[in-house]
Amino acid sequence: MKTSVIGLPRIGCRRELKFAVEKFFAGQISEEELEQAGFHLRKENLQRLRSTGINYIPCNDFSFYDRMLDMSLMLGIIPERFQEFEEELTPHQFYFALARGITNNGRSVKAMKMLKWFNTNYHYVVPELNPCIQLSPDTTRLINSIHEAITLGIKPVPVLIGPITFIMMSELEDHLSFDDIFSRVSAAYQEIISRISLEEIAGIAFEEPALCMTESEQHRQKLSTFYNKISARCSKDIFIHTSFDHVGKNYQTMLGLPVKGLGLDLLYGPENLNLIKKFGFPADKLLFAGIVDGRNVWKADLFRIDGIISALRESVASDQLVLAPSCSLLHCPLSLTGEDSMPEKYRQYLSFAFEKLDELIDLGRIYRLNDNDRISRLKEERRRFIDDVGRIEPGVKEEAIKFELIHGGRKTPLKIRASKQRHNLTLPLFPTTTIGSFPQTPDIRQMRNELRMGKISREDYNLFIRGKISEVIALQEKIGLDVLVHGEYERNDMVEYFAEKLTGFVFTANGWVQSFGTRCVKPPIIFGDVNRPGSMTLEETLYAQSLTSKPVKGMLTGPVTMLNWSFVRDDIPREHVCAQLAVAIRNEVADLESNNIKIIQIDEPAFREGVPLRDERRMSYFRWAVNNFLVASGSAGDNVQIHTHMCYSDFNSIIDEIIKMDADVISLENSRAEPTVLEIFREHQYPGMIGPGVYDIHSPNIPSVEEITDRIMALQKLFPDEQLWINPDCGLKTRRSEEIIPALTNMVTAAKGIRNPV
Ligand code: GLN
Ligand code: ZN
Repeated sequence: MKTSVIGLPRIGCRRELKFAVEKFFAGQISEEELEQAGFHLRKENLQRLRSTGINYIPCNDFSFYDRMLDMSLMLGIIPERFQEFEEELTPHQFYFALARGITNNGRSVKAMKMLKWFNTNYHYVVPELNPCIQLSPDTTRLINSIHEAITLGIKPVPVLIGPITFIMMSELEDHLSFDDIFSRVSAAYQEIISRISLEEIAGIAFEEPALCMTESEQHRQKLSTFYNKISARCSKDIFIHTSFDHVGKNYQTMLGLPVKGLGLDLLYGPENLNLIKKFGFPADKLLFAGIVDGRNVWKADLFRIDGIISALRESVASDQLVLAPSCSLLHCPLSLTGEDSMPEKYRQYLSFAFEKLDELIDLGRIYRLNDNDRISRLKEERRRFIDDVGRIEPGVKEEAIKFELIHGGRKTPLKIRASKQRHNLTLPLFPTTTIGSFPQTPDIRQMRNELRMGKISREDYNLFIRGKISEVIALQEKIGLDVLVHGEYERNDMVEYFAEKLTGFVFTANGWVQSFGTRCVKPPIIFGDVNRPGSMTLEETLYAQSLTSKPVKGMLTGPVTMLNWSFVRDDIPREHVCAQLAVAIRNEVADLESNNIKIIQIDEPAFREGVPLRDERRMSYFRWAVNNFLVASGSAGDNVQIHTHMCYSDFNSIIDEIIKMDADVISLENSRAEPTVLEIFREHQYPGMIGPGVYDIHSPNIPSVEEITDRIMALQKLFPDEQLWINPDCGLKTRRSEEIIPALTNMVTAAKGIRNPV
């Protein structure tokens, strides 16, 4: 059986892309040097694909920043506000200006927006389409990527983001409709295709994951129009790849298209298999069967794959089957080569992008030869993983499952709790607080490095952290905040910090995954049962509380966020892993409470990230995600005030769930100060208290007392005074002290001014 891949991580084994691009930003390397760095990374990937023996090798899967941005530029779509800069900047400067905004000669232009790419943790630059845009395709880079592959002896498959996905993921301005823009964008695509169809390529692949999200009549019509048109004019094979879920009604439309191959995700959209069974698969097409998990880190599960392939073979001839990852490999780390220090007992079960290529080749061979011995051996390996006693913590599974049956949430209704807490905490109206972290200054990073390298002892490090905590408590008292925090100085990252204190997690040295542009994350891996051997936050929190008579908030990361920002074991359902995390947090809450901490914040910034693409799966996700938040927070007595924090501003689709989470207080990002965001809380009569961010921490600007006062007054129009908290809209860790001290001071002054108007 043949094999295919539509994309590899582009960041490089040692994040070479990040460092090159950042050097370019800093003016330390030239355009040519940056180009060279990109060329090397592309070459490395192409050579790897070729030497492994992958049959359909992609090109144009690289980008210096983001492929949606590249697709916009390839189509010639440039937001008007940037056009004046095109002349005065070099091509790369201009390109990055689109993604990051620009200040030049006193003029400043805001960056294009970023949004999450489907239900992954990758963020793409959102194309801006309006009725006046001019499309003038530029295929220089695309053709260059084809030639690079050809020079290496490869007949590549250029990969483009398909037009349905491109338009659906764009921002349509000025009431532009999908129909209006479609014909123009589609003409530009045709122009691009005609320019490359004379090249020595093995076909043209279109990524259309949006087909797993929409199946409207309108989109299906466009799907059919577009692919019929291009197939008629293009002599090369056309492939359409979908990923992240099943394609539903689109399946029948896709079957009727005159294209050579269809890619389906058979892992995250198992229903695709039923579609194939029900409607068959045409004998003149290839099926790119997504059977290797492209967004997780485990070795292939042969039980599952074997089942899928046997079922596929009933409807699809073997020579029509092409084995593939479930999606672009962009979403998993590049290579296990950099993980030499990881103990073999973990490493043996892992497979990153490069290893997944080997697995694909192995599977292709196995099923070509019907190598049943090898299949049994791989199944045995998988069994060993499932049964590995090193992954089991006695009692954890049972304890977590218990909460599926009993209600893990608080016993007393929110209103009653609120009045007890009012009594108990005696906070002023418009209580002021922060979201948790204070600036992570270079000295902290240096101490953490020294600790890691063994240059200082754990005691020295702890002492240093204590020093920071006492400084920040004094600072907050001086500023006059009402509810204090300990500053989160001991945390490198809000997930990793907790993961390191729990059992069941494994960490990589180089398992970087691109989050957006040059930003990468290194998600921990949930390998086994999650248990809390001891308290995780007590020491720092109690130390902070010992320094002040004001309440100090305990700061925890919620179970859903822990889950969504980790790679999760795939042998038990995600919700069970989440439940184990929830129990661990619940026990931490209990520890804090029994040590007299009165306010505990459980952050859930990634709550929305796990929301499935298809409606039919949402209900179930929301049910277990909310339940697990209730389990985490639910042991708290009535007098303990539970806060939560979410940092995005689109709450429309999840407001019911937020209410069900039953937190006493929620703090929200509200940096664009759009009243519509908050109106949804009013319309739904949100029962708890709310702290909409009164200033944007993502910008270095220092808000004035007047600006903040205006914000608060706008909030007063929406909510009764008793319901409001005053806080910035996210943690302060990325800011500098020079910025946050005046900003928080102004915030407190504004709150006091509203409390006691003159
Ligand atoms: N408590 C965290 C902080 O302040 C919250 C971070 C977040 O919302 N992502 O840093
Ligand atoms: Zn936040």
